[in-house]
Amino acid sequence: MNTSTGERCPSLDIAFGSEVAPLLWVWDFDQTILSIHSYGQRIKPEDVLSGKRNLDEDVADVVFFKQFISEVLKNGSSVAVASFGEYEVIQAYLDILVPGVFNRENISTPTCVGGRDGQGLHDGKVPQLEKLLSGIFRKKVTKEMRARTVLFDDQVDNIRRAIGAGYIAVHTPDAFTRQEWCAMRSFLPSDLVRKA
Ligand SMILES: [Mg+2]
Repeated sequence: MNTSTGERCPSLDIAFGSEVAPLLWVWDFDQTILSIHSYGQRIKPEDVLSGKRNLDEDVADVVFFKQFISEVLKNGSSVAVASFGEYEVIQAYLDILVPGVFNRENISTPTCVGGRDGQGLHDGKVPQLEKLLSGIFRKKVTKEMRARTVLFDDQVDNIRRAIGAGYIAVHTPDAFTRQEWCAMRSFLPSDLVRKA
């Protein structure tokens, strides 16, 4: 489902210049970047790479996600995925969606933190966020780094745990779309986004 119209809320309005502008933007995968649950549907990497899957149908908002990624990278932020799903499937989708942006370093799945792909972790996404930060920035994670990391996730429990650990976390129950971003912007810290 592609919900981008390009008419409402055309700009992202992220306050990139600010000293506390985000270092790292992190997305959950199933039902956040995708509108569907690829793990639940047992989708295989070859289903995606062979073109059997229609990305316009599987990705919640293709146009907006690509625009968002391109804009935050251009402005010096990093991007990552933190999912409980299967690494190879996520990599396959992202290779087609935004080629060259995501790899094993910035796609975190449970195997990265001692779990098994497809199985949720006790502390939600927090161990994965910690490992992403230390891996991408090659240093010990600080409170300031956590406060400049934003997680989008459709599962409210992951949001609560991330906020409890000092991250910015935004609940996206209807997935990551331009419409949701426009609605959630007013709830984000003012040093993160410019208020209308
Ligand atoms: Mg999800």
